[in-house]
Amino acid sequence: MPKSLISVDLRRSPAEQEILLHNRWHPEIPPVVSVNPGAVFRIECMDWTGGQIGDNDSANDVRDVELPQVHYLSGPIAVSGAEPGDILVVDLLDIGALPDSEWGFTGIFAKQNGGGFLTEHYPEAKKAIWNFSGIYATSRHIQGVRFAGLTHPGLIGCAPSAELLATWNKREAALIATAPTRVPPLAAPPNPQRALLGQLRGAQFDRVVMEAARTVPPREHGGNCDIKNLSRGSRIYFPVYCKGGNLSMGDIHFSQGDGEISFCGAIEMAGWIDLHVDLIKGGMSKYGMLNPIFKPGPVEPRYSEYLVFEGISVDEQGTQLYLDAHVAYRRACLNAIEYLKKFGYSGEQAYMLLSTAPVEGRVSGIVDIPNACCTVAIPTEIFDFDIRPSTKGPVVAPRGMEAAAS
Ligand code: ZN
Repeated sequence: MPKSLISVDLRRSPAEQEILLHNRWHPEIPPVVSVNPGAVFRIECMDWTGGQIGDNDSANDVRDVELPQVHYLSGPIAVSGAEPGDILVVDLLDIGALPDSEWGFTGIFAKQNGGGFLTEHYPEAKKAIWNFSGIYATSRHIQGVRFAGLTHPGLIGCAPSAELLATWNKREAALIATAPTRVPPLAAPPNPQRALLGQLRGAQFDRVVMEAARTVPPREHGGNCDIKNLSRGSRIYFPVYCKGGNLSMGDIHFSQGDGEISFCGAIEMAGWIDLHVDLIKGGMSKYGMLNPIFKPGPVEPRYSEYLVFEGISVDEQGTQLYLDAHVAYRRACLNAIEYLKKFGYSGEQAYMLLSTAPVEGRVSGIVDIPNACCTVAIPTEIFDFDIRPSTKGPVVAPRGMEAAAS
């Protein structure tokens, strides 16, 4: 087992950890450890909410979650010799749950506090707890399914430079200004509330906290990409924007469907990641790199049969949109949910299932005016009953009690 450079104690809050975590991006957040190119080491992470969600049957904690706290990240890790313009090569050698924490959660955020991809259809808080048995996950709240985890960090990336950070803040503020009172908001601007900046203190903290970027969106450095295929054995090539690279990570998912549609959306867990790092000096310009590039790992669950749902860019009111992949993917997801409801799932259970199971999302057509076509492919083998259409009709059965907010 590689030496653990950052350990977490799940009995303590994020602010009480021995090596302090951070939940914002800024080049001045000081590295907590330093490694050489070629190093192999382990990093432990809290779940993305820092322990706010409990293993119980009430969704009150999802409804009341403090989103200014997210995401809690382990790092920054400085890599000696890394300079702006280099590529940081990161191998995810292995990923797992912490031994005393073999469970995870999925939530639907309330529309008033976070929302999600289908928040207009499912505005109430809900939760599902998953238990792990080795590589497999099952849920007492979404019964009739069992699948192998495609475990990955939802969030990993290097710190931005001061210039890149200023670009993010400027363009996101301009977007927010187009609809400043929207619920949920269009973007998450810097917010000093519940900000944790590692070891930063005093006047420097007071200045940095007002400009440090929230961790919510993916950006040029990677960050919260929520790509399920960044799993065991993947190699990620990160652009380096500041000295040392300052790599951070967190938001580990036991499993996730493409799109992580419910936003609290994967099977969220605390866990560990074994890493190997290396450098390609001057690699960004050599390869014309702006955003990360990655090579998926060789260890993925193997499913041979899928039921695939199509969606086109016509909204729920029948309005024709022009090649809008967002709407087309939403309609594909809604079609899949309506189908799964015929087998006894509630809409919320089906929504959380699409968000967590190894579901493949595709932009299938993006040129056939006026309709984009997106697809959602659900592996049929994850169900313990037959979900294919047949002349007998769907098998309806109870599929577990939902954890709702009271
Ligand atoms: Zn997550």
